[in-house]
Parts: sequence; C-alpha cells; structure tokens
Amino acid sequence: MQSVPYLDQLASILDLGGKHFETRTLCEVPCEGRRLPVQAVLLGNPDPALPAVGFFGGVHGLERIGAEVVLAFLHSLATRLKWDSSLHRELESVRLVFMPLVNPGGILFGTRANPNGVDLMRNAPVESQERVPWLIGGQRISPRLPWFRGPAGRPMEAEGLAVCELVSRECLARPFSLTVDCHSGFGVNDRIWFPFAHTRTPIQHLEELHALKNLLRETLCHYRYIFEPQSSQYLAHGDLWDHLYLRALGQGSLFLPLTLEMGSWAWVKKNPLQFFSRLGIFNPVIEHRQQRVLRRHLPLLEFFLRAASSYRSWLPGLAEREQHRLRALSRWYPELRMEPRS
Ligand SMILES: [Zn+2]
Repeated sequence: MQSVPYLDQLASILDLGGKHFETRTLCEVPCEGRRLPVQAVLLGNPDPALPAVGFFGGVHGLERIGAEVVLAFLHSLATRLKWDSSLHRELESVRLVFMPLVNPGGILFGTRANPNGVDLMRNAPVESQERVPWLIGGQRISPRLPWFRGPAGRPMEAEGLAVCELVSRECLARPFSLTVDCHSGFGVNDRIWFPFAHTRTPIQHLEELHALKNLLRETLCHYRYIFEPQSSQYLAHGDLWDHLYLRALGQGSLFLPLTLEMGSWAWVKKNPLQFFSRLGIFNPVIEHRQQRVLRRHLPLLEFFLRAASSYRSWLPGLAEREQHRLRALSRWYPELRMEPRS
C-alpha cells in the first residue's frame, strides 16, 4: 500500500526535536481502509499570556511545496535546538504551532481536495454576499469538480475542524497571534494574502497589517513579496481563515492569519515540460529549483516567528494608526473614498 508522502519525514523531524516537541494527533481521516493522522507539533512557551505563531501546509494536497516549506522550517528548528541558545531564549517568549500536513489524504492522492472531494478552503461556514467567480469561488454542484464546498448544511470536514480547534486553543486565547498557511499555484509572483476572501470590505486590523507589511519590506529588503488582501485577486465562499478571523474578532482577540501563495507559474515558464505533469503546475519539478524555493521562503517563516514574539515593538501606537489606515486604504482599497476618522 502506498505510503503518505512526508509522514516519514515528519516522524524523523519529531525524533530530532525530541523532548522540545509536543505532538498531537488532532483527528484521523478514513482513506481506503486506513486512518491517516492529522498531526500538530507544538513547541515554545505554553503560557497563554504570550503570543503565538502558527505554520500550516498541505491544505491543498496537490500543492506539495507548501508542506515541504513548513517541514523544512520545522527541521531547521529541530536541528538548531541542539546548539542554538538564542533560539532557546526566543522560545521562552512565544508559542509555536505547526501543522505541516493538514490534508494527508489529498497529499496521498495528489489532489487539491480531501478524500471526500471537498476543498478545505471553501468549506468553512462563511457565505460571500458579493459576486464570486463561477466554480473557483466555491461550488456545490459536485465533488468531482474542483472547489467543491461540501454538501449544504453539513458540518465542516474533519481536517478543517482540526485546524479550527488547534487555532482556537493555541492562538485565539492569547494577546497576539499570527499564522502562515503555505500554498502554491497562483500566478508568477510570491504573494502574502490576508483576509478577507469573502468580501472586499477592509479587515478590522488594517493598521496592524500595514505595519507588518512595512516591517517585512524593511527587514527582508531583497525579497519580493506582494502583500495584499485576498479580495484584491478574487472572492470566495467558505474561506477557513476568514472564518477563524471572524471568530477571533468575536472574542476580542488580535489574530492575523496570512497565506503565502508561492507563484508557481514562474517554475512552469522556466521548464514548460512540467505543465504536462499534474503536480508540476503547482510544484517546482527540477531539484535545484525546489531547493531554491525552500531556501527563499525559510527567512520569511523565521521573520514571522520573530515578528510574533516581538509584536509589542512594531504594533502601531495610537499616534501612527491613522496614517497606517489611510495608506493601507489607498494601497489596497483604492475604490473606497478615504476620509480621516473624526
Ligand atoms: Zn492552495
């Protein structure tokens, strides 16, 4: 029987991390007579007064490079824990949450959806009231077509519920948290998306996101990430991170969920033959290019870890908020009329 790619790699990283890692099996997904574990790895300080940062991959099973980037980062932390005293000090001030293989059934079959044919990024109980693109914005016609939301009125899929439960417990109960969910396949450029996906209305924490965008640009000045709301590109029903962001708002929690969209079309452009491989459209096929992708994004994940643990030093204060808000509105929501808050 075929084994799930990356489960062995995750197991050996857990061995390497040893006592510093806490592993939880959040659920098991039935798949061809087997039960595939959906696992989380936790490390750092569990004190709920401290911030948290989460790294997610493999939500869309086809986009393997997302899982690979998260596993590579976890592997580098496991290795550094053996010698790097500055990392140990850093982990005293922050909680880390990893879920590198959210959709193990999709990873096994090389599909975007989970084994029930449901797209986990269209399955949350969030309904767009605006015009979403046909099919890609989420559909209930058939699980045989992509972007299937799941049958109406049914609870969320087990993998999505596992993400919600983990984020609620480990992130939303804290003063500050930030998550990065790694995907691939959209366009040529690397993008960082923030909510909303279901509406063009600006997110409530626009000032914080604008400050974080500036911090990223100043810190990783040689990296080109396009930082924008997902709604700049397209709208969709059922986005999992919109759902969790709205939940956090209800709890008065400061939670910034980000999605890294690695621009895989650049890899296809450089190697057109990979267009004919289904996985090739979403992943770098040539090994040196895969290595380069992994190398390029590790500093970004490290940046988010440090930004979360030091959030107090960059969150905009009262005096700067208005300027951040106006700049964010003109950059990301030019269609809105900008007026200073009275
Ligand atoms: Zn994706």
